[in-house]
Amino acid sequence: MLLTKSPLFIVTLLLAACAAPQTRTPNVNNETTNAEAKKQQELVVEDYMSNYKKLQNVSSRIITNGSDLCGDKTAGYYGFNYWNQDGFKPAWKEVTKSKFNLDEHFKILHVVEKSPAEKAALKEGDVLVSINHWLVPIGKEADKQLAQKLAEQAKSLSPVEMAVLRDGTEHKVSITPVKSCDFQVHLAPDDTKNAYADGKNIVVYKGLMDFFKTDEEMALVVSHELAHNAMQHIDAKKKNATAGGIFGLLLDIAAATAGVNTNGDFSRLGAGMAGNAYSVEFEQEADYVGLYVMQKAGFNIDNAAGFWRRMAINNSQAITTKSSHPTTPERFVAIEETVKEIKGKLEKGAPLNPELKK
Ligand SMILES: [Zn+2]
Repeated sequence: MLLTKSPLFIVTLLLAACAAPQTRTPNVNNETTNAEAKKQQELVVEDYMSNYKKLQNVSSRIITNGSDLCGDKTAGYYGFNYWNQDGFKPAWKEVTKSKFNLDEHFKILHVVEKSPAEKAALKEGDVLVSINHWLVPIGKEADKQLAQKLAEQAKSLSPVEMAVLRDGTEHKVSITPVKSCDFQVHLAPDDTKNAYADGKNIVVYKGLMDFFKTDEEMALVVSHELAHNAMQHIDAKKKNATAGGIFGLLLDIAAATAGVNTNGDFSRLGAGMAGNAYSVEFEQEADYVGLYVMQKAGFNIDNAAGFWRRMAINNSQAITTKSSHPTTPERFVAIEETVKEIKGKLEKGAPLNPELKK
């Protein structure tokens, strides 16, 4: 914003001049300030990546085990995430180069626990060379091409042959993708205690990650959001998918700390969801179906009602959208009943399918 020199502005300046600080503060030189800025950038990226990996480890169990409920919205799932320097704004490139050793090549950022990629012995830090003999590109648009190629090759769920560089030597890795819901799970860098689903994506905010006490709590929220998508509470066709997984995010973390709005993927997704509350009926369905998904993924569902109670107490801006999550007594009773229903089926060895209306 440009300042115009109004009389008021000049008066303010004069007043400010009279009220000068009285003490001598330490001298701060540019070199130490820059070093501190760099340190903070490193911490931001490290903190973000550590939360991102936790979220992917939990989500992968949910999107794969819940795939029966996702109808035709399924895809092949590998279980790895990658990154390169192009995901970052120029101001962040130095840190990503010096601290994380990134350049224009795509490097494995994370191998998800118990995923097909882990079984195939793909390693963090491996550099992607080729996928089914297709040479992995670098440069502008390369992330979109790579995401598209990986999706295409995974469709048939047959082994995908990859070549990677590890410590300068080429290794062959053969990953057999598994079926999963075709929803990407993202971590938004904001400090908000929130999460939402837009029909195609699931977004969990960092503020909520900090609030989770256990993996079960994280799983509960991701399952609930997956249920919104699986039950088509929003028409996915009306929403833009974020291509390339983590790329939008990297721009956004840079933006969040630099205080600049980049119109990153999350800003866009988030803006699209603002004021878009689900009806109480849809929220109840997301609770109900979500608990089935969570149980199928092998998480303990006993504390489900307890978590939502904790959210209700701690969070006036209820999860997903403002005041959309019913924090009524009925909600908690319904969740307890659902837990009983699922446990009953488990005891009988009955299939874990949500009950449809007659
Ligand atoms: Zn919801």
